[in-house]
Amino acid sequence: MSKKKDAAKIIFESEKDVPIMPMSLGSMLFNKTGSWRNIRPEIRTADCIRCGICWKFCPDMSILVEEELPVVDYDFCKGCGICAEECPVKCIEMAEERK
Ligand code: SF4
Ligand code: SF4
Repeated sequence: MSKKKDAAKIIFESEKDVPIMPMSLGSMLFNKTGSWRNIRPEIRTADCIRCGICWKFCPDMSILVEEELPVVDYDFCKGCGICAEECPVKCIEMAEERK
Protein backbone atom coordinates (compact mmCIF):
# COMPACT_ATOMS: atom_id res chain seq x y z
CA MET A 1 0.00 0.00 0.00
CA SER A 2 2.92 2.34 0.60
CA LYS A 3 3.22 5.22 -1.85
CA LYS A 4 6.78 5.99 -0.74
CA LYS A 5 8.63 3.19 -2.49
CA ASP A 6 9.58 4.86 -5.76
CA ALA A 7 12.68 6.78 -4.58
CA ALA A 8 16.21 5.67 -5.47
CA LYS A 9 17.92 3.45 -2.90
CA ILE A 10 21.46 4.15 -1.63
CA ILE A 11 23.57 0.99 -1.71
CA PHE A 12 27.14 0.65 -0.39
CA GLU A 13 29.37 -1.66 -2.41
CA SER A 14 31.60 -2.49 0.57
CA GLU A 15 32.18 -1.59 4.21
CA LYS A 16 34.80 0.99 3.12
CA ASP A 17 32.08 3.03 1.43
CA VAL A 18 30.01 3.39 4.59
CA PRO A 19 30.34 6.92 6.10
CA ILE A 20 32.41 7.07 9.29
CA MET A 21 29.89 9.26 11.07
CA PRO A 22 26.13 9.03 11.35
CA MET A 23 24.36 10.76 8.51
CA SER A 24 21.12 10.68 6.67
CA LEU A 25 21.32 8.38 3.69
CA GLY A 26 19.23 10.74 1.64
CA SER A 27 15.93 9.27 2.46
CA MET A 28 14.05 7.33 5.10
CA LEU A 29 11.90 5.82 2.42
CA PHE A 30 13.54 2.43 2.71
CA ASN A 31 13.74 2.40 6.47
CA LYS A 32 10.42 0.81 7.25
CA THR A 33 9.99 2.34 10.67
CA GLY A 34 6.72 0.53 11.16
CA SER A 35 8.69 -2.38 12.63
CA TRP A 36 9.60 -0.15 15.61
CA ARG A 37 5.97 0.18 16.66
CA ASN A 38 4.41 -1.60 19.63
CA ILE A 39 1.12 0.26 19.53
CA ARG A 40 -0.80 1.10 16.38
CA PRO A 41 -3.38 3.72 15.46
CA GLU A 42 -6.72 2.35 14.37
CA ILE A 43 -9.16 4.77 12.80
CA ARG A 44 -12.91 4.39 13.21
CA THR A 45 -13.73 5.87 9.85
CA ALA A 46 -17.48 5.89 10.58
CA ASP A 47 -16.84 8.63 13.15
CA CYS A 48 -14.23 10.53 11.12
CA ILE A 49 -15.23 14.07 10.16
CA ARG A 50 -12.53 14.21 7.43
CA CYS A 51 -10.82 17.24 8.91
CA GLY A 52 -7.32 16.12 7.87
CA ILE A 53 -5.73 17.03 11.20
CA CYS A 54 -4.20 13.57 11.67
CA TRP A 55 -2.67 13.82 8.20
CA LYS A 56 -1.31 17.26 9.00
CA PHE A 57 0.20 16.36 12.37
CA CYS A 58 1.74 12.96 11.61
CA PRO A 59 5.51 13.56 11.87
CA ASP A 60 6.19 10.59 9.61
CA MET A 61 3.79 11.40 6.81
CA SER A 62 2.31 7.99 7.53
CA ILE A 63 -1.28 9.00 7.05
CA LEU A 64 -2.51 8.94 3.49
CA VAL A 65 -5.84 10.28 2.32
CA GLU A 66 -7.86 8.00 0.12
CA GLU A 67 -11.31 9.01 -1.04
CA GLU A 68 -11.22 11.82 1.57
CA LEU A 69 -10.61 9.40 4.44
CA PRO A 70 -7.35 8.94 6.36
CA VAL A 71 -5.52 5.63 5.96
CA VAL A 72 -2.48 4.69 8.03
CA ASP A 73 0.60 3.52 6.15
CA TYR A 74 1.73 0.85 8.60
CA ASP A 75 5.04 0.36 6.78
CA PHE A 76 6.18 3.69 8.26
CA CYS A 77 3.94 4.57 11.20
CA LYS A 78 6.01 4.41 14.40
CA GLY A 79 3.01 4.38 16.71
CA CYS A 80 3.82 7.72 18.34
CA GLY A 81 0.14 8.42 19.01
CA ILE A 82 0.18 12.06 17.91
CA CYS A 83 -2.65 11.47 15.44
CA ALA A 84 -4.84 9.98 18.18
CA GLU A 85 -4.00 12.83 20.52
CA GLU A 86 -4.84 15.50 17.94
CA CYS A 87 -7.98 13.99 16.43
CA PRO A 88 -10.78 16.38 17.47
CA VAL A 89 -13.44 13.65 17.64
CA LYS A 90 -11.17 10.98 19.16
CA CYS A 91 -11.89 8.41 16.49
CA ILE A 92 -8.29 7.15 16.44
CA GLU A 93 -7.43 4.57 19.09
CA MET A 94 -3.97 3.30 19.88
CA ALA A 95 -4.16 -0.48 20.10
CA GLU A 96 -1.57 -3.05 21.04
CA GLU A 97 0.44 -4.10 18.01
CA ARG A 98 -0.30 -7.56 16.64
CA LYS A 99 3.07 -9.04 15.65
S1 SF4 B 1 0.88 7.00 15.37
FE1 SF4 B 1 2.34 8.67 14.88
S2 SF4 B 1 3.49 7.92 13.11
FE2 SF4 B 1 1.64 6.66 13.29
S3 SF4 B 1 0.13 7.60 11.94
FE3 SF4 B 1 -0.18 8.43 14.01
S4 SF4 B 1 1.03 10.30 14.09
FE4 SF4 B 1 1.75 9.12 12.33
S1 SF4 C 1 -8.11 13.82 12.79
FE1 SF4 C 1 -9.72 12.34 13.24
S2 SF4 C 1 -11.58 13.22 12.37
FE2 SF4 C 1 -9.86 14.32 11.46
S3 SF4 C 1 -9.43 13.19 9.54
FE3 SF4 C 1 -8.11 12.30 11.14
S4 SF4 C 1 -9.29 10.57 11.92
FE4 SF4 C 1 -10.70 11.87 10.81
